[in-house]
Amino acid sequence: MKNIGIIGGGQLGKMIAISAKEMGNKTVVLDPNPDSPAFGVSDEKIIAEYDDLKACDMLVEKSDIITYEFENIKLSSVQYIEKYRKVFPSSKVLSISQNRILEKEFFENNKIPVAEFKLVNSEKDIIKFCENFSFPVVIKTVTEGYDGKGQKIIKNFDDISSSFTEISKSGKEIIIEKFINFDKEVSVVCSRDLSGKITSFPISENIHVNHILDKSIVPARISNILKNKINILAEIIVNQLELIGLICIEMFVLDDEIFINEIAPRPHNSGHYTLDACDVSQFDQVVKILLDFNTSKPKLLSPVVMFNLLGDIWFDNSNPNWNKALETPGSKLYLYGKHEPRVGRKMGHINILNNSLDDAIKLSDSCRSSLYES
Ligand code: AMP
Repeated sequence: MKNIGIIGGGQLGKMIAISAKEMGNKTVVLDPNPDSPAFGVSDEKIIAEYDDLKACDMLVEKSDIITYEFENIKLSSVQYIEKYRKVFPSSKVLSISQNRILEKEFFENNKIPVAEFKLVNSEKDIIKFCENFSFPVVIKTVTEGYDGKGQKIIKNFDDISSSFTEISKSGKEIIIEKFINFDKEVSVVCSRDLSGKITSFPISENIHVNHILDKSIVPARISNILKNKINILAEIIVNQLELIGLICIEMFVLDDEIFINEIAPRPHNSGHYTLDACDVSQFDQVVKILLDFNTSKPKLLSPVVMFNLLGDIWFDNSNPNWNKALETPGSKLYLYGKHEPRVGRKMGHINILNNSLDDAIKLSDSCRSSLYES
């Protein structure tokens, strides 16, 4: 068995480490935060910044193979590590996913549908784009945005100035995109192993609140024709990226059209349902690939709803009623071990399994409400 290095010690790193451990491996996690959730389950920890080359050397020394749990790590660190050890997914895939312009150009070059977009440098550029493509539009930082951070929807000409001022404060490049008035947001977690075999998890229907994932419903309530279309697009993306590892592809559905929003080359929040509702979880799948095992096609064992537990809950009820919530049939609680609840911070999630998807949805709503009961 192997020593698996994980860059990033958040909940995703923690769950990769648990799967790695279950399959008999050792893990070493690199993260600057000494309180990182993954440190609680890893064999070794390296507490250092991601661009600390001495720490990268240490990670290389202690690992046979390396992966990462989020995109916003310094590309140069991963390229440095890659000189000595295999990193899956590769730095090439990471570089595309880190930059919204490169990402969208990659899609366009491969004839994969995306919302119209442009790099903008001024309010004038935004006005010009809106004259061509009409409102609403979204402006986003080209790099480092997540969970709606670093982005602003512009509904009319009056919004342009204040939105541009706010987003340009970061000093980062800005992309403008046509806002897709989608019917649904969906995602698919897809993987490619070292033998080249591509497998996809069931498609998840995702509901966001304040740009943060609130709930995933699986199977997604979309037609089989759309599901086929999504799986074909996912396969093209994975092949063109020459991916080894696991990726989440997020997209918008509008009538019978699909627009790809973004890719994340790692396990994803919208794939947490796989922990209980599939015969292999997204974390197991990435670990299998790191170990050079062949992957199997994941099977959905039950309809499921996953809802996120954000720090907000602790401000509304300092003592969430876990007892009542966990009386819900088919419920399973995950708390990540983060000490400090903050508004919008992902503290955990609950999966609710039920033979009927409609019942799973109803039970997830009542389960969530009961957390607020005293
Ligand atoms: P992102 O950080 O790009 O994933 O955006 C976070 C969320 O903002 C998405 O999941 C959507 O709910 C919304 N969003 C971002 N871009 C667009 C767009 N072009 N059209 C519609 N909604 C968007």
